[in-house]
Order: sequence, then structure tokens, then C-alpha cells
Amino acid sequence: MLPWFVSYYHTIVSRLSANRLHHALLLAGTEGIGKLQLAEHIAKFMLCKMPVDEQACQRCQSCQLFAAGTHPDFHILQSERQIGVDLVREGISKLSRTSQLSGNKVLIIPAAESMTEAAANALLKTLEEPTANTYLILVTHQLSRMLPTILSRCEKHVLVPPSTEQSLSWLKQQGMGEVTEAQLHAYGNAPLKVQRSLSTESGIQYTDFVAALDNIIAGKGDEMQFAGEWQDEAKRVVSWCQHYVHQLYIRNQSQSAFSVYNECIKAHVHLQNPGVNKKLVLSTLLAQFSHLDMT
Ligand SMILES: [Zn+2]
Repeated sequence: MLPWFVSYYHTIVSRLSANRLHHALLLAGTEGIGKLQLAEHIAKFMLCKMPVDEQACQRCQSCQLFAAGTHPDFHILQSERQIGVDLVREGISKLSRTSQLSGNKVLIIPAAESMTEAAANALLKTLEEPTANTYLILVTHQLSRMLPTILSRCEKHVLVPPSTEQSLSWLKQQGMGEVTEAQLHAYGNAPLKVQRSLSTESGIQYTDFVAALDNIIAGKGDEMQFAGEWQDEAKRVVSWCQHYVHQLYIRNQSQSAFSVYNECIKAHVHLQNPGVNKKLVLSTLLAQFSHLDMT
């Protein structure tokens, strides 16, 4: 559970337990603060057969199916582009079936603002007269783009983003303790955006990068080896290098940080060339780091 949403979560699930929760929630707020994670957390609780202390039990059949991504009464409308009418109809038809686990049914609509007008209209009737034990959770970071007809039929929650301290401490828990306030700020104070940007599918983690860079700076790292390992992520690595020297320059105003920063910009330009030798560009740039004045 994202720490900054703990109190929202408890407010919502305690109302659910008291049968006083609206069947359609709209979670609005800045992009990258974890609204969808919160929605999924609530959904898991709604579906759990044996909740304990306002938390899903993690053990019942429902929780296990949910964790496996195969819960028959949980649906999420994912779309690369706009959410069209066919997708909404499909979601609604799933909700209209009898619950397969004899409990609640939940439909989450992320990026709800991207519903076409036809899709939104198709959803209206369900929002007005849902089938029994059915909950809809709409999520949006663009509240102003939501149709008034949808808004008026949902219980709206505008979620307050985490404080800088909360974001940085959460990122630290995720192994990203090096993230600075300036960097967080550059990502719109959205910690999940920072996390997505710093961790990659292929596995280079920002923390590993910084550890390797520290070795190079100390004259103990082999830049050719790292350049070889990182060449598939060259652009990202150069951005990280740039960020690193930028922070150093803010701290010590040294000429060496300034010139390595310029080398990062040159490396970015070289990488625009499709035929470039990425390993060479990276190793040349990384070699500059051994000349940095770290005082
Ligand atoms: Zn459970």
C-alpha cells in the first residue's frame, strides 16, 4: 500500500464494510501518484472472502485468484488508445453475469477520461442502475476531460499527491535512495513516474548505475565493460550521467563537472545517429568521469 493513500484506503473500505459506499467511485489526481494501485487495492478488498482489519486476507481463493491476475469477477478496461464503446460494452456484459465466486464484482476503468462519448454513454446505464454487488472504480488524471454525465453519477475523490518527504522516502524503500528533490520535481513530484523511468525492463537499475559510476570515478571501474553492458540502454545511461554531473555541479560548481555535463550533451547528439557505435560513445563519456573533481 502506498503510504500516502493509507488514510483514503481506510476511509473507503470502512464505508464499504458499513454498506455506505457508493457503487461507482472516481479516483482523480495527478498522474504518477499511484491511483490505479489504490484502485486495485480497494478492489482486492472488495473481493476478498475473509478480510482482516480492513485488509484483504491474501489467503482466500479470491485473493489468490486476484494475485494471479485470473479473478473471474474482477475486470479492468485496458486500452492503448481511447476506450471505445465495444470495450465498455464488453466490460458491462461481464459485470451483468452472476458473480462466479458468489461475492462482489469489480470493474476498474483506468484513464477514464479517454472514453469516447459513445463509450461514456454506454456506461451511463450501468452507473445509474448497476447489477447487485457491483462496483465500478474509474481513475483519471484529467478530471476536466470527464463528461459531466459521468461525473454526476460517481462519488468523486480528488486524491492529494504525496509530500516531497513521502515520495523520497518511498523511492528509497524501492531502492532508489539517490533520487534527489530536483529530480522528483522534474517528474512533476510523481514518485511512480520517477520509479518507472529509473527501472527498466532489461534490468539496469539506477542504484546499480550509480554504484558502477562511483567505481569509475574512484578509478576502480572498467568503463569499457560497463559501456558494453549498458549499450542497449545508452540514451537512458547518458541521461543518468547528465543528471549525476548536474547534481555535482550544483554542489561544487567545479569546472570538471561543467565540462562532463557538456560531454553528456554531445553524447546525446551522437546517439541520435542510428549507425553510431553506442559502446564507444558510452565508454568515451564514462572515461571522463574519472577526471571529475568530487570535492
Ligand atoms: Zn482474501
